[in-house]
Amino acid sequence: MKKVLILATGGTISSKEGSEGMVPQTAPKELLGTLQELSCHYDISYRVILNLDSSNIQSEEWQLIAEEVYEALPHYDGIVITHGTDTMAYTASMLTFMIQNPEKPIVLTGSQIPISHPLSDARSNLATALAAIDHNVIGVSIAFNHKLMSGCRAVKVRTMGFDAFESVNSPDVGEIFADGVHLLSTRLRAEGLPCVLKPKVSNEVFLLKLIPGTNPQVLDSLYETGYKGLVVESFGAGGMHFLRRDLSGKLRELVEKGVSVVVSSQCLYEKSDLSLYEVGRRVLKTGAIQALDMTTEAAVTKLMWALGQTSDPEEVKKIFATNYAGEISF
Ligand code: ASP
Repeated sequence: MKKVLILATGGTISSKEGSEGMVPQTAPKELLGTLQELSCHYDISYRVILNLDSSNIQSEEWQLIAEEVYEALPHYDGIVITHGTDTMAYTASMLTFMIQNPEKPIVLTGSQIPISHPLSDARSNLATALAAIDHNVIGVSIAFNHKLMSGCRAVKVRTMGFDAFESVNSPDVGEIFADGVHLLSTRLRAEGLPCVLKPKVSNEVFLLKLIPGTNPQVLDSLYETGYKGLVVESFGAGGMHFLRRDLSGKLRELVEKGVSVVVSSQCLYEKSDLSLYEVGRRVLKTGAIQALDMTTEAAVTKLMWALGQTSDPEEVKKIFATNYAGEISF
């Protein structure tokens, strides 16, 4: 029987309707009842470490979760983290960078409907997360709607549907069928490297989604506010305007002042390529980093994590040129 630790952090899975809307509860009896049922298949321990809607989960909580997981990992076959769905993809990506070379499964899950509701997806999502541990799906994953996705590739794409997450630009890690778990892709793990915890991150990262006509001066205000890192969601394969409102010129000034700039695409699928068009090449010449096929969640968390490791923009570039867990394809 696999030994599993469930770390609860809140989210809809453990929420109940209150006078101010849905609020997470520490240990709803339906959740404890479900774990009790599942305990004929798994040796389950349950610990509440946070009790938050995931909109309130930020870098301090990521650090706490990473530390709890890292300390518990040697004593269990795998860890399940129950978490709100809204920012689950950010937490999963960040844990991928904070906990390097884990030798066991770390699986995040949650639900679209609270576990106390008869239509809830919580039980099957929990069972999927536990199946990932049964099948030793190493590394950080998200288990949702009978799918297992790499933590640094998952994106929340639906607010109401049960199929709330998609693995973007990378196949699912696994899927549950009537005949069991089908593992669809293999996980990267550098053999022989020890598992290490690197929980330092920077909060001085901003995500800017461009619109046609974005005023370049917005970049000055970001610099004056103290941001050290900026992810820009540009148009298509990686363009931004220079006519009348010269965004690429302003970006160059920012890079020259030591801000690490990552340029990604507003398109969800496929890679950005700044070398294709003039509107992209101008950006490339500023010294900005290309996000290529990374998700926005992965690009943002990688930049926050990179700036927690170093303040040298050249080192940040080297970090972005490293594929830690399949978050990028070169
Ligand atoms: N607002 C909730 C949360 O992210 C949504 C959910 O869990 O599905 O905590």
